[in-house]
Amino acid sequence: MTAAIIDGKAIAAGILDDVAARSALLRGVDVHPVVSFIMLGDSAPALLYANRLERVARPVGIEVRRFSLPDIVSVSELERTVSTLSQDSAIDGILVQLPLPDHLSEADIGNLIDPRKDVDGITVQNAGRLYLGIPGQVPSTALAMVELLDSCGIDGTGKDAVVVGRSKIVGHPVAELLIQRNATVTVTHSQTRNLARNTLHAEILMVAAGSPHLVTGDMVRAGAIVVDAGINAQRDGIVGDVDFEAARRVASAITPVPGGVGPVTNAVLLRSVVESAERRHE
Ligand code: NDP
Repeated sequence: MTAAIIDGKAIAAGILDDVAARSALLRGVDVHPVVSFIMLGDSAPALLYANRLERVARPVGIEVRRFSLPDIVSVSELERTVSTLSQDSAIDGILVQLPLPDHLSEADIGNLIDPRKDVDGITVQNAGRLYLGIPGQVPSTALAMVELLDSCGIDGTGKDAVVVGRSKIVGHPVAELLIQRNATVTVTHSQTRNLARNTLHAEILMVAAGSPHLVTGDMVRAGAIVVDAGINAQRDGIVGDVDFEAARRVASAITPVPGGVGPVTNAVLLRSVVESAERRHE
């Protein structure tokens, strides 16, 4: 079997067309969607991320406004910046560079951002809403991973789904979204005793571990649908957490890296910004 490739770029383009149309309507009534990005220090990956987001946002009429703070910023200093942005009626979304420097915890920022502007779903309020099944902001990568399934018409109902990774911004919310889609969900992590025994059960395999080619072809169930969020910089380019070439010989559908989850993550994030701007207008 050779798996169908799930084309994240095409799915992202469809979402961005809708974002562009909604953003144009807003600009027509003088509402200009803006997302702020708080950078902590001058890390190269954060700069790359900001540049990439800007490249996607500009053509759909969304401004990315950068705020640079030193990586040794105190919680109170960060709090001042975030609360200024939360109160600024011209700002629709607030993003904070992740992972945080060691002296800051997710709990520190989880309480600072106005939940209505928390377009990446990292606040305590939005996490609570997700787990209670109340509409709210969902972390973009997790949302992108399940929307990739939705766009391919893959119904989770009754399926065995396995998530590799349990981070608060990817693995954990993916598991929750799969439960909401009536899948039977197993969550694995670095302490899981036999990862392959679990992944081999997966009709839907969602991988977000940050470990290049952790999932090899012989860990994939025949006919599985594989969604890989991994972004790992290697000497010969970016690779995922799944060995794509080996897995595609076993799976029925698979996302490539790059060109799978990444573009859809940016698109759903920008859709959240436009939704927030629409609420501001209302
Ligand atoms: P984290 O490092 O926060 O979490 C990684 C998770 O994977 C942890 O739960 C960890 O377990 C688990 N894990 C690590 N090694 C193994 C292993 N050998 N076996 C099983 N589980 C393992 O990463 P993120 O969740 O933030 O990101 C995951 C990946 O997704 C990264 O490659 C990142 O670059 C990518 N990413 C992609 C995005 C996109 O837009 N496409 C956006 C965000 C992230 P434990 O909890 O026990 O430590």
